[in-house]
Amino acid sequence: MLDDRLKKVASYIEGGTLLDIGSDHAYLPIYAVKNGIVQNAICGEIVKGPYDSTVENILAHGLADKIEARFGSGLEVVSEDDDIDSITICGMGGPLIADILRGGFENVSGMPRLVLQPNTYSYPVRRVLRDMGYAITDETVLRHGRHFYEIIVAERGEASYDEKALMFGPVNLTKRENAFIRKQERELEHQKRILANLEINSANQEKMNEIREIIDLLE
Ligand code: SAM
Repeated sequence: MLDDRLKKVASYIEGGTLLDIGSDHAYLPIYAVKNGIVQNAICGEIVKGPYDSTVENILAHGLADKIEARFGSGLEVVSEDDDIDSITICGMGGPLIADILRGGFENVSGMPRLVLQPNTYSYPVRRVLRDMGYAITDETVLRHGRHFYEIIVAERGEASYDEKALMFGPVNLTKRENAFIRKQERELEHQKRILANLEINSANQEKMNEIREIIDLLE
């Protein structure tokens, strides 16, 4: 039932209660509870169709006493009374994950572990973690066909990251996994193609310089 991406996310979850934001089908919390990774879970979902699917799947697996579905946006579905050990936010763009974290973390008590899986542009996720006083403790990149999936794990702690670390990930830069390198190679090819097109059209110098800087960083 669970794909490799969410299985990998599940391997980073810890503690008694999981909060999964943007649960959709609820496959991740169902897997985490069924496999004893956590005892309970709360699912947050903002869209009616996916919310209904969350509720149906929880019932279908007979887990209504252990997994609760809550309808609402981001972290507004929790309060300080909820004792949460891990938070997962997966399968969304990096800017949306960053907005969710920035816009409601005051509702979260304790120091839950964060396991985040941005589909695109992870820079704002790392920046918000740094600003919130969370340190990145692990990262990985998974490849599935033409897609690359990043997973970022963070724990409460001070950290200072330079631009390079925010862009590529401090742990990715140390681990240099094959999928991570391949992802950057592909991004480099992509940026070079954009630059070549801009040069042909003698487009705006400012934009070209911006892309040259990205290319330098990627190289
Ligand atoms: N987390 C699952 C996964 O990784 O397979 C589902 C990912 S699905 C692409 C993203 C889900 O996040 C959608 O069901 C969407 O409705 C939900 N979502 C988007 N913004 C949200 C928000 N601010 N609060 C809660 N859920 C949100």
